[in-house]
Amino acid sequence: APLLEVTEVSRLYPGPRQGWFGRSEPTRAVDRVSLILHPGQSIALVGRSGCGKSTLARMILALDAPTSGSIRFDGMELAGKSQAELRPARRQMQVVFQDPYGSFDPRQTAEKLVAEPLYLLDAPLSRAETRDTVAEALHQVGLTPQDMEKYPHEFSGGQRQRLSIARAIITHPKLIVADEPVSALDVSIRAQILDLFADLNRRLGIAYLFITHDLTVARAVSDDVLVMHDGRIVECGKTLDVLAAP
Ligand code: ADP
Ligand code: ADP
Repeated sequence: APLLEVTEVSRLYPGPRQGWFGRSEPTRAVDRVSLILHPGQSIALVGRSGCGKSTLARMILALDAPTSGSIRFDGMELAGKSQAELRPARRQMQVVFQDPYGSFDPRQTAEKLVAEPLYLLDAPLSRAETRDTVAEALHQVGLTPQDMEKYPHEFSGGQRQRLSIARAIITHPKLIVADEPVSALDVSIRAQILDLFADLNRRLGIAYLFITHDLTVARAVSDDVLVMHDGRIVECGKTLDVLAAP
């Protein structure tokens, strides 16, 4: 069965008013989008800025509700659910943003930051179990147990992105939504982080929805690609074919 099934999903925003007496036309940020993602599959979602990628991602993460359409994740319809009802689904998906600095509390150690998703589990782990689990997640992303005691500013940009990936994988989610996760990184670091993403997909079988405006980034992490334009999916196929198209 699919892990994620998005069916005819739209999201309208109230548009800007046209002049003093003009009627406002709503913005169709996402316009009747459908997609299917299987367990362990990595799909890249590409398109230029403003085409609706983040809006779609927020709906899949149940952070925003569709105006219409259906989103099924792991066998559960997300639309119309309460926060409490969404918790089991939320635990199975994590997000990695472009700039982890923005979502890291500078006063917390890496241990606390990476452990954050664990605090939301129904059965909280002991301090020792938490440390072991954090150490394992850090190991998976190429950091060391010593890094647990450090604060965010003591890490380089690439290492900080490793930290946010460690936080994303710590609960063994079935899906990671990565929103431009390498766009803020130096080109030399970018390739290392993309290798890490590809490696985790292969080793841990985590599915990705990998959002990027860059097709060469898409190629590094996903065999399959969806191209979005003006809120719609205008093309889907194998990344190599889409890259090769004129
Ligand atoms: P506009 O008409 O708004 O100026 P363009 O047609 O020049 O936009 O650019 C389309 C953008 O949409 C590309 O930059 C790309 O991000 C994305 N895109 C990629 N492939 C397609 C496609 N086959 N059809 C439409 N848009 C595409
Ligand atoms: P992308 O992630 O591809 O850059 P977004 O999903 O951020 O695109 O935006 C898609 C469209 O929806 C844009 O036209 C944007 O201006 C509009 N939009 C996004 N968020 C809002 C909002 N909160 N209110 C009104 N319009 C929005």
